[in-house]
Amino acid sequence: MRADMHSHSTASDGTSSPAEVMRRASAAGLDAIALTDHDTVAGHRAAAEALPPGLTLVPGMELSCRLDGHSVHLLGYLFDPADAELAAECARIRESRLHRARAMVDRLAELGAPVTWEQVSALAGDGVVGRPHIARAMADAGVISSPDEAFGPDWIGTGGRAHVTRYALDPARAIGLISAAGGVTVLAHPRAGARGWMMPDDAIADLAAAGLHGIEVWHPDQGREQRALLTALATELGLVASGGSDDHGVLTGYRIGCETIAPEAYQRLLSQATGAAPVAGR
Ligand SMILES: [Zn+2]
Ligand SMILES: [Zn+2]
Repeated sequence: MRADMHSHSTASDGTSSPAEVMRRASAAGLDAIALTDHDTVAGHRAAAEALPPGLTLVPGMELSCRLDGHSVHLLGYLFDPADAELAAECARIRESRLHRARAMVDRLAELGAPVTWEQVSALAGDGVVGRPHIARAMADAGVISSPDEAFGPDWIGTGGRAHVTRYALDPARAIGLISAAGGVTVLAHPRAGARGWMMPDDAIADLAAAGLHGIEVWHPDQGREQRALLTALATELGLVASGGSDDHGVLTGYRIGCETIAPEAYQRLLSQATGAAPVAGR
């Protein structure tokens, strides 16, 4: 039983369509794949329709949160996608993403980077716009040599010259929203230090007290030492130790299935959800 609990499609900032993500998950030998696009469930239908036999889709989402000025990502699974309050908050985040992406493109223009909104918008298509789309437009325009460079202090990295903040949820409230919609929650990559905040133990304990179900331990951006510390913390707090590839297609080197959750942890996590059911490919 191999389940990858974290992946992105063109419904947000991945480069594979939801159907392609399902095909790649199957080709990687996975039994289950969670589709967790940023702040949207828009890819679920196409993913379910394209499910190959033997593959199970766990419908999910990666919610944008902020705590003490730091970006925090919360994975939610098997919630009721029609829940009004959750859907309204996601719409608000997506709207804010659009405004801030336009504002970042304006700032880039002021800095002399020849990137236009039309280029960014074309890359995002119908998907939720994110900084990776701007980064790709910058690389296409020759401003930088690879999209990764955009996330430094010179450009659109947090605190960078062209960075603009956006609306995000308090993570404890986000846990409440997903739980109220019958879903389960996993704190995404809390120790991916190279690109984010190293979330302290007490902050994670606070979220456990707020009803968090699990911690993402197995993530490509978390090293051996942090995985060991997070495994111990999950045990101490009674949380499920989860894992996933955080595949974004070509942007992350097509790594779907490179990290998975233990079968018993998968069962334990899913058994706590009541808002929706996994979809089995036939
Ligand atoms: Zn994330
Ligand atoms: Zn992600």
